[in-house]
Amino acid sequence: MENEAFSNFCSILEKVLKTKGTEEKLTLVESFWRRAMKAPSLIDIPARSVSPLDSFSILRLLLPELDNDRRSFGMKERGLAELYISVFELDPSSFDAQRLRRWQDPTVQQQTGQIPAIPGNFFSVLEAVLRHRCSDTSSLTISQVNELLNELNITLEKEKRKKIFHQIVTECTVTENIWISRIILKQMHLGLRFESILKWFHPSALEDYRLRHSLRRMCEDCFQPGFYIVSQDVILGQPASVSLAKRQENLQRIPYLMSDGFFLEPKFDGERLQLHKKGEDIQCFSRNALDTTHLYGPHLKTAVLLCVDAQDCVLDGEVLLYNVDKQAFEHFDQIRHYISIAKDTKLDDNFLITYMIFDVLYVDQNQNVPPSVVSFPLETRKEILKGIVRPFHSQIRLVPYKEGTTVEDIKQAMEDFIEQKYEGVVVKNKKKPYLLGKRDDEVMIKLKPDYFNDLVHDLDVLILGAFIGTGYSKTTRIGKPSHFLIGILEKDIEEQDRNVEVSWIVIGKVGSGYSYEQLEQLQHKLAPFWKPYDKKAPPEHLKHSLLRADGVPDFWIEPCHSIVLTIYAYEVRPSAIYSGYAVRFPRVANIRWDKRWFECSTLDELTRPSEPPSAS
Ligand code: ATP
Repeated sequence: MENEAFSNFCSILEKVLKTKGTEEKLTLVESFWRRAMKAPSLIDIPARSVSPLDSFSILRLLLPELDNDRRSFGMKERGLAELYISVFELDPSSFDAQRLRRWQDPTVQQQTGQIPAIPGNFFSVLEAVLRHRCSDTSSLTISQVNELLNELNITLEKEKRKKIFHQIVTECTVTENIWISRIILKQMHLGLRFESILKWFHPSALEDYRLRHSLRRMCEDCFQPGFYIVSQDVILGQPASVSLAKRQENLQRIPYLMSDGFFLEPKFDGERLQLHKKGEDIQCFSRNALDTTHLYGPHLKTAVLLCVDAQDCVLDGEVLLYNVDKQAFEHFDQIRHYISIAKDTKLDDNFLITYMIFDVLYVDQNQNVPPSVVSFPLETRKEILKGIVRPFHSQIRLVPYKEGTTVEDIKQAMEDFIEQKYEGVVVKNKKKPYLLGKRDDEVMIKLKPDYFNDLVHDLDVLILGAFIGTGYSKTTRIGKPSHFLIGILEKDIEEQDRNVEVSWIVIGKVGSGYSYEQLEQLQHKLAPFWKPYDKKAPPEHLKHSLLRADGVPDFWIEPCHSIVLTIYAYEVRPSAIYSGYAVRFPRVANIRWDKRWFECSTLDELTRPSEPPSAS
């Protein structure tokens, strides 16, 4: 196997690519395997291999997207194009360099007199560029390719990287180059699901991979005679498969699915982080079991060592980036960006990495219980968590939760969390164990307002008042409105009536859906017109609409100076806070700079029945 030619592997891949049907494709893979392993028959060979190392070296080329043992190449099409340009010393202004850089651009790819390529298909463009530049034969073996790819990782400095890449590509034929590029970009597109390949490899391979997230370990496990996965457990230092949430559009079903009661938690828009603490060491793993210690470890280690009382433990949670200036969490894709530009692992003073912990999988404290606690019900795990984490640090927090049993509890939580600008709600069965690598709607359900599209009302509302900071940023948004009191007209008004007192129906408060920049624009535009709301002398048009103190805004505005917002909302419900109605989970869909204050919706539009929900 060691010396099996890489070219043979590539010609099998070419055949797999062109063949239809999973079975047929797998037969081709098997024929290659048999030849590489020099095995006359695979029937009696455990894990279809002669040695786990051999299996691993082929599988990691066949399924590069699963190969967590190789460090990231840190390259996309553009980076790879630049490497080819520099290795083949293409003049940057030449046609070939241009077409590699602008591989998606049809005007470049379809120039007459040139080798045609499919615009948008990087590999087709690369093939056209390399056609006359590569050798016709090659002698690279599979193990040599693996070794070179191991060396070609993101940590290398530019020149070293170029040198290794040079060695690979100049020794390869065009076809081999294309497959090397596919491996680097993790875009094999063989028409074979990885699940099919793993099941073909060994009956327990897929389960093993889901648990360990390591092709190498999977090959080792499957090589053991009689290997069969019977139990799932958590091992310190090895990423465990995270539990996943099922989406559920029908709120009415949740109390039946979780009849023993549930916990309601905000859904954060961050990145999943499984943190393993072993004494003074910490290791971080992503949702897909990639090691992210180099990203988050330096930012979180001190805080974790300060706040976590257990010697060894495995915690589950969401990592977020807090923007001190904006007093808000950043969108999740910003985390990696800011970490990547952080100097000497120190973030800009304006940002803070925060770990919101919601579960514990392992704790080595009490010798009377086994360290893995995944089989305990959630309510017990939450208690264990409270016992080992002291969340006094701004970077380490325990996720707040509310208890619930009814649909109303879920709606209320949803309303509160959306108002506090969270993404949605996660409903968790308090009596269920932690399900490693599984999605089960009796265990964990995620709800986001977007799931309820068929119930959503689309309303144009007018800003009637403003609230200064609520929820997470309560103490820090002083002086700046972040939530708005919204209302609609009782009925359409005639032009001649626009100057007289108009009746307004207040329907709630909105604080999400707009971007930070849009909020700033609103704040700026409305700033000159805010008037403090005096409860003893409320403005005439609002005094009958605000029935309870918690609905009273900090400021109000004359309607003629205000702005119309288009909002989505889940449903209209009776309200004791406002004058009769309130909308649930309102979110701003659009700021209607183009609409005038009297062009907003009327009560009639609000109460018009919407389409009944589908009975799923
Ligand atoms: P999504 O794209 O909706 O975040 P996903 O496919 O990444 O979903 P799911 O398991 O379907 O993952 O949804 C749950 C995800 O939500 C978790 O992976 C986690 O990253 C995130 N999350 C945010 N807040 C919580 C919370 N309180 N409890 C559990 N997961 C949470």
